[in-house]
Amino acid sequence: MEHQNSSTPHVVIIPDPVQGHVTPMFHLAELLCLAKLNVTLLSTTYVHKRLNKSIEARFARYPGFRFEVVSDGLPDDHPRTGSDGCWASIQGFALTAEPFLRGMISIGTSVTCLLVDGWLGFANNLAKEVGIPFIALRCYSAANNWLDIFVLKLIQDERVPFKEEDMDKLVENVPGLDTFLRNRDLPSFCRTKDRATCLGLQQAFADEVQRTSEAYGLILNTFEDLEGPLLSLLRSKCPRVYSIGPLHSHLKHRLDEEKTTLPISSSSLWEVDQSCLSWLDKKPAESVIYVGFGSLTILEKEQILEIWEGLVQSNKYFLWVIRPNLVIGGENGTPTPTALLEGTKERGCIVSWAPQEAVLAHPAVGGFLTHSGWNSTLESITAGVPMLCWPYFADQQVNSRYVGEVWKIGLDMKDKCDRKVVAEMVNDVLDRKKDELKESMARMSEAAKKSVTEGGSSYCNLDRLIQDIKMMSIKGAD
Ligand code: UDP
Repeated sequence: MEHQNSSTPHVVIIPDPVQGHVTPMFHLAELLCLAKLNVTLLSTTYVHKRLNKSIEARFARYPGFRFEVVSDGLPDDHPRTGSDGCWASIQGFALTAEPFLRGMISIGTSVTCLLVDGWLGFANNLAKEVGIPFIALRCYSAANNWLDIFVLKLIQDERVPFKEEDMDKLVENVPGLDTFLRNRDLPSFCRTKDRATCLGLQQAFADEVQRTSEAYGLILNTFEDLEGPLLSLLRSKCPRVYSIGPLHSHLKHRLDEEKTTLPISSSSLWEVDQSCLSWLDKKPAESVIYVGFGSLTILEKEQILEIWEGLVQSNKYFLWVIRPNLVIGGENGTPTPTALLEGTKERGCIVSWAPQEAVLAHPAVGGFLTHSGWNSTLESITAGVPMLCWPYFADQQVNSRYVGEVWKIGLDMKDKCDRKVVAEMVNDVLDRKKDELKESMARMSEAAKKSVTEGGSSYCNLDRLIQDIKMMSIKGAD
């Protein structure tokens, strides 16, 4: 598809090719399209094949939008989950995206700026080489971005890796975080015991911090009332920080302003099973715990059984997403106990992929047992649903600490996988601690909604971002 007008600014968005980055970047792409910018989103053939075809219809209304794809070099049936799988697809993507982008620029396609996700350093290098400004995109919280700077220092000071017995020690000398962040709340890779891995991490963080500091600005899917203090700290290192989230709700609001009749189609990479919504329709208000661990988490068979036992023992209704590739070693394990199957028939509903935003907005849902992925966290906040956090990896350890200790909008079950704890904490969220959690959650949810309406912080920051991009196309970046 040709862009509508060559004098219109043209941005190229390059997200890491995983669900939790592709979804918010489609939202950002659409927000920029609504502002009449030309937008190219670059991803992988794997992502393209798995996207619901309605997304093409959704973007067909924007003549300035193009979706370009390259291979990530992995076979179609590669799981692309867990830490290694997700890293393999990012690295594979970087290898093919670099020549593609170079080719695009060399044939004279005018590009105003690149919006580049976390681990795609090739694009920043290319932008510098050809003199195009780039803006860093990070699909995780301001706290995690701030921590990126200090993880490097923690590794250099040999405070990471830390000893097993120091798990509950506070992490010292990290401004903004050192009153509540413990070693166990650091991003999961800080738990590595291997020095060589640590040195590799050191380099990776050094590169990432360097890239952010060279960027024209930094776009974050967060909002001022949620992370104001950390955003201020980040602004001391990177003056143009555009906090424009929660992006999913921001987009809905801007589409409402346009009086668009077409629904926001899903950018899910799995087939969405809508049947769970009718199951929810038959349940009393706030009686169901929704259980979902995102797109990358993988569990051992023992872990899944322990959580399952806990859910059944909680005596609450549960709606659980069990992705086809969620469990490892599942097939050779012992058969599922009959009591679990019976308990599930009575009170449970299991689907392979849910319409998560609609589920969280359903009145029957009273809590969310989550892996604390950043999108899931923002979606839960927007819907006003308290969380029970069981983080798996990366930034999720930090997010769950914020949920439990700072924002007090949920409970943190980190590092425990025990049926009794699950049953108890599900009851805490749905009953015993429900009122206090719901009260603080209601305040945060209200603030989230306000931030994306006219005059709100995210609304104004997005306008500023669009204005800055337009200025770049007129006079070039300063
Ligand atoms: N999601 C969904 N249906 C599901 C599970 C997840 O639509 O059954 C979506 C969810 O709404 C979120 C994304 O997948 O937008 C997961 O992103 P997150 O950052 O929470 O976790 P990740 O998958 O990156 O670990």
